[in-house]
Amino acid sequence: MDAMGKLALVGDQMGLEPAEDGDNRPRPGSPATWTAPSPRERAPCGHSPAELRQAYDADVTEVLTKGAPDPAASLERKKHSLGVYNAVAPGGRQAALLKTLLTSACERDCFYCPFRARRNFRRATFKPEEMATVFTQMHQAGTVTGLFLSSGIAEGGVRTQDRLIDTVDVLRTKKAFDGYVHLKLMPGLERDQVLRSMELADRVSINLEAPNTARLQKLAPHKVFLEELLQPLKWVDEIRRTQLPRAAYRGRWPSLVTQMVVGAVGEDDVEILTTTQYLTRQLSLARVYFSAFSPVADTPLENHAPENPWREHRLYQASFLLRDYGFDLEDLPFTRAGRLPLEQDPKLGWANENLREQPVELNRADRHSLLRVPGIGPKGADTILLARRKGQLRELADLQRLGISTGRAAPFILLDGRQPQHQLRLF
Ligand code: SF4
Repeated sequence: MDAMGKLALVGDQMGLEPAEDGDNRPRPGSPATWTAPSPRERAPCGHSPAELRQAYDADVTEVLTKGAPDPAASLERKKHSLGVYNAVAPGGRQAALLKTLLTSACERDCFYCPFRARRNFRRATFKPEEMATVFTQMHQAGTVTGLFLSSGIAEGGVRTQDRLIDTVDVLRTKKAFDGYVHLKLMPGLERDQVLRSMELADRVSINLEAPNTARLQKLAPHKVFLEELLQPLKWVDEIRRTQLPRAAYRGRWPSLVTQMVVGAVGEDDVEILTTTQYLTRQLSLARVYFSAFSPVADTPLENHAPENPWREHRLYQASFLLRDYGFDLEDLPFTRAGRLPLEQDPKLGWANENLREQPVELNRADRHSLLRVPGIGPKGADTILLARRKGQLRELADLQRLGISTGRAAPFILLDGRQPQHQLRLF
């Protein structure tokens, strides 16, 4: 099989792995009306029958209506089938990422994973040089601008990480590729490999998958939470704090992220966000990704109900409150079951409880208090602080001119001692 055939083989299933900021899955309908889809079935080529049907139908429709398939649309479908995703890389750069695996063979048996050892489907494996070459060809053709490289585990985490490092090494040295690389760290790798990966990549990550040892046991019983997954994250943090990056490559250390599967093993949001808070505050992770569980056919969890994607969305909102807005865990409006209400933005929930009777005077509040107001983010708070140096904020129109979402903020603020007139939001 040629390299493009192998990419297509692993490409579709990489959609299950969140990468950077561009491909968070859309939230369908409202939290109340969302209904669970059936488990994902896969054709041997890695595509679901529904997706194949969709692609086929789209081409047929184009032939019937336009006489020939739209080349641009066909190209997009082809790129997607190879694992090319549009994403926003750190720093806000748009990137067309080739999201792929060095091998889709794996000796582990994680219960949720399409690549697990006992699952029966056709696998593909690249040699490091081969992967570097096919990526370079795609880059030179203008199909991709960056690489997200992961792998199934074959012959242990250390050997697998060596091959991942070799691939990026070839890309950086022989192929002179200077663009964006997100490199996965394999469970069980060694500290020196973490360091070398950090020297080569713009972002590194290892998926925790679960918030703690007990939950991971039910999800991926052969992975060891503390030693195999958390320790590499700690090494990245320690290296960033104690060693200067070698100027030979970027001259700065890569960012660090992780991912958790949500809704597969009964974990609550308090567990997830407790770990998230530790990771972002103590280990300086740029971001924790959440992936609403979606059952994959021919896995031990294939009959488990999928998680409502709104839960994933509320967790993202809460994690940003912890990371950027000065909220603590105890500020979040958890239910008795330790869950965030799906129907309400957690910041709005906190404001309804705490600011209705004590609105924030925007002409005097400090940054911390401004950030508590719905509709005011870090940028908005800084804009307000700057604007106050020039004069009083008296009306909602003053805020609108600063780009503040007054519909959300109005019920919780005072302007020059008065609560501004606002239309009640019905939803
Ligand atoms: S180690 Fe990774 S690729 Fe292998 S089964 Fe587990 S999650 Fe899947």
